[in-house]
Amino acid sequence: MKVAVVGAGIIGSSVAYRLSEGGAEAVLIDGADPGSGTTSASFAWVNANNKLPREYFELNVAGMREHERLRDEMGGGWLHPTGNLIQPTDEEDLERRVERLRAWSYAAEMLTASTVNEKLEPEAVFPDPEASVAYFPEESWVNAPALTRALVQAAGRNGTRTLVGNAVEGIEVGGEGVTLRLEDGDTIRADAVVNATGAEAACVAEMVGRKLPLDVFRGLLVRVSVPGKPLVHLMHTPRVNARPDGQGYVLLHHDSVDARLADDFAGTEDPLCAELVERAHRVLPALAEAEIVEARFGLRPVPADGHSCVGALSGIPGYYEAVTHSGVTLGPLVGRLLAREILTGEVDPLIVPFRPDRFPQT
Ligand SMILES: Cc1cc2nc3c(=O)[nH]c(=O)nc-3n(C[C@H](O)[C@H](O)[C@H](O)COP(=O)(O)OP(=O)(O)OC[C@H]3O[C@@H](n4cnc5c(N)ncnc54)[C@H](O)[C@@H]3O)c2cc1C
Repeated sequence: MKVAVVGAGIIGSSVAYRLSEGGAEAVLIDGADPGSGTTSASFAWVNANNKLPREYFELNVAGMREHERLRDEMGGGWLHPTGNLIQPTDEEDLERRVERLRAWSYAAEMLTASTVNEKLEPEAVFPDPEASVAYFPEESWVNAPALTRALVQAAGRNGTRTLVGNAVEGIEVGGEGVTLRLEDGDTIRADAVVNATGAEAACVAEMVGRKLPLDVFRGLLVRVSVPGKPLVHLMHTPRVNARPDGQGYVLLHHDSVDARLADDFAGTEDPLCAELVERAHRVLPALAEAEIVEARFGLRPVPADGHSCVGALSGIPGYYEAVTHSGVTLGPLVGRLLAREILTGEVDPLIVPFRPDRFPQT
């Protein structure tokens, strides 16, 4: 079976790897470099922390387990099981969440700020020593571009051909399979095609006459270089989120800053970058000497109901979708489950609630 996977982000590369492992002839096609899309501009927090309803929570928990499985399988150094701390904006709300997560067998506990300073993050500054902080020891972060490159290489060793810098401009489905028209004028024939183009997925869906309701939100990640090791865990606070990003670097993000991103965003010189660093400095004083080294601008692909869109469409033979927010958490899992569906027709119960057919084709 020959399958064309369009988009070599964390999702498409995972699908291609699992297809190639299952014996399919996969062709992975990207208009740019593998992992250079949203995958390279993600906070990359692997979690099921605030994922609702229960089915979506379970999908994300399975996504967390799948990262461990992939690490054990491929021996990768991209997974950083640091644990995560959340300092609440609304304490009662966070306590309720921790209770719910514990009832669902998810590792979560409330600590005081003084315990956090003593045992987990000695440098972090909290409003007072008795302040509540939630701790989620099984959450992690991922170097998503590194994982994506590793998946592309592993797929390559299984015979997958990767075409980079060559966007798909048209797709015909029906009859004897699918035909893809590429930017350089070439065509590719295959038995099936996977749309794993992230924020571009609605445009690619349009090529087969499919209306995919997709919202796209901007996001900003600021990478700073810092001396020493100012933090060990992922940390979410009311004004800034921070996590380590490799030796000597910290990555900063906050939704309230994303909401103010404008079209004239000026890269590392943009005042929003300085603002994020200033916010982070209040929580982590060691960031006084932080230098902004990179501003990453990402586009979150979010299917209209906020949940994943994975699988075949009943009305379009040979066409599959793999589009989701939380794609770093879910990429390896979506890759394995979708490859199995394409190769065997078997739909895993985990993805039954997240089928593309739930969006009517009006
Ligand atoms: C600020 C921010 C924070 C986030 N934080 C988290 C988080 O903490 N945890 C988490 O799990 N998720 C998070 N996400 C979401 C996550 O990063 C995405 O869901 C994930 O990266 C999507 O991966 P993808 O492979 O679908 O898309 P992408 O990485 O964008 O890959 C799609 C690829 O398709 C290619 N492409 C597009 N159109 C075409 C075409 N016509 N032909 C050929 N190729 C094409 C692009 O070049 C690109 O390489 C965050 C996102 C943002 C923006």
